[in-house]
Amino acid sequence: MSDFDAIVIGAGNAGLTAAATLQRAGARTLLVERHNVPGGCGTSFRRGRFEFEVALHQLSGVGVEGQAFSLRGLFEKLGVADRLEFVQEHDLYRAVVPGRHDVVLPADWDGATDALESAFPGNRDRIARFFQLLKDVTFWQVAAMRGMPREEIDPVLFRYGLRSLKEVLDEHFDDDGLKNVLGLYWTYLGQPPSALRFQDLALTLFAYFEFKPWHVRGGSQAMSSAILDSFLEAGGTVRFNTAVEKIPTRGGKVIGVRLDDGEEVTAEDVVSNASLPVTYGMLDPGEVPAAVRNDLATRKLGVSGFVLHMGLNATPAELGFTTSTSFINLDTDDDRTYNGWRSLSEPARGVCVSSYDVAPIGFAPSGATHVGLMTLQYGDVWDKVAPADYARTKFAYAETLLDVAEHMLPGIRDAIEEVDVATPLTMTRYLGHPGGAIYGYDQDATEGWLFRNSERAPMVDGLHLAGSWAGIGGFQPTLEAGARVARRLLRSKAA
Ligand SMILES: Cc1cc2nc3c(=O)[nH]c(=O)nc-3n(C[C@H](O)[C@H](O)[C@H](O)COP(=O)(O)OP(=O)(O)OC[C@H]3O[C@@H](n4cnc5c(N)ncnc54)[C@H](O)[C@@H]3O)c2cc1C
Repeated sequence: MSDFDAIVIGAGNAGLTAAATLQRAGARTLLVERHNVPGGCGTSFRRGRFEFEVALHQLSGVGVEGQAFSLRGLFEKLGVADRLEFVQEHDLYRAVVPGRHDVVLPADWDGATDALESAFPGNRDRIARFFQLLKDVTFWQVAAMRGMPREEIDPVLFRYGLRSLKEVLDEHFDDDGLKNVLGLYWTYLGQPPSALRFQDLALTLFAYFEFKPWHVRGGSQAMSSAILDSFLEAGGTVRFNTAVEKIPTRGGKVIGVRLDDGEEVTAEDVVSNASLPVTYGMLDPGEVPAAVRNDLATRKLGVSGFVLHMGLNATPAELGFTTSTSFINLDTDDDRTYNGWRSLSEPARGVCVSSYDVAPIGFAPSGATHVGLMTLQYGDVWDKVAPADYARTKFAYAETLLDVAEHMLPGIRDAIEEVDVATPLTMTRYLGHPGGAIYGYDQDATEGWLFRNSERAPMVDGLHLAGSWAGIGGFQPTLEAGARVARRLLRSKAA
């Protein structure tokens, strides 16, 4: 008999929900994590008087009372719903282009329409048409994702889904400012409006409008720890500070894992939350199917992030925060801003600012504010930085993010009590992912769920993939992916 029924590599979102789902269904499961805490990206750390949220800027999928959405159901199934306190953001975001516009977009369709009409008069009808299109494309996209036959899907999805966000915005609006405000989630999704598929922006904007953006009291770490507890209470076994370094096979079938202390642990099934290159790199080269090698050879590493985790000795109001989430961009030239993610030679041109104390999550002491200042960035720009230049380069670049932030938050530098700067190399170090990629592969037209789906098609018997590298990145998608992969595995055993 095997030591375990299943082994899960990595305790990121998908690893945690996979392990908890398996163990709670009675499968004896070992969870192995190279770091010393659960969560992967979904974690926090302390500096001085502050605890810092590492990754969660806006959680989707929670829903409101009377309209609970999928994550609440998942948390209930995992027995953690009543251990988590969600903190609602009532606005989607504040959008600032200095000297051009400063608009707060409430997290409801009517409020957003009013705010946009007030900032960009004469566009109410166009906004209504755009929002209706966005809802229609999302509805039919979700139907397609759930397997509805092609002929039953409304042609609106085929007409608009794969067009670029820019094309669709240009078709609806003339005002660059209005287009900028409506398209801002491109800076989460990692592709500029000229390359981002409309269906991706539509799904994201729809999800936040309809089910609201949330923070979690105690940060994403509270969520990760609660899921781990659920796993342990069901009898699961976890090994922290332990990396899996090999996935041995026999006759083309996975037989367990070898840990970095040399111990071999057997199991019929292995679920990997590690990146695809790392996962397949742990198999004997001869065991990696040609289809996988071809797939990996044609994929593009996605974006990482550059983040200032800041503890500020002033209240959000004193600092000038009116919303939890703000996007500040120097102008509306999104292609130039995106190209800036591929180089350190130009200063940052846009930042996402998260204040975790407009609606407090409990990490900053009273009278102080915990802020995350972030821009996405490709990891390879750091390959060219010599180790001796690393600290100087990272602090110099951090200054350029602060320069952008000063446009909305004048004097923010004077309020800094603690600051910790994370670069893509930090992400690589903590996650073990190539390029420090935080959503797995680039989320562009060729990498989307329509064309690539590593999660759905296990290529090696007994090896299952769950997380941002095998599907869609982000909190909600990965939390759901882990549970989905585990359920599929359990069904296959029951069959
Ligand atoms: C700064 C930042 C901001 C973000 N903001 C948001 C946001 O606002 N909203 C949103 O939805 N998403 C956001 N994301 C993205 C989101 O956090 C990730 O896409 C998601 O958490 C990835 O989950 P995952 O399940 O793929 O696992 P990951 O978090 O990638 O974790 C993988 C785990 O596997 C472990 N591992 C790897 N190799 C091994 C091995 N060989 N042995 C053992 N363990 C191993 C790693 O240590 C890690 O714990 C952000 C991410 C970051 C970093």
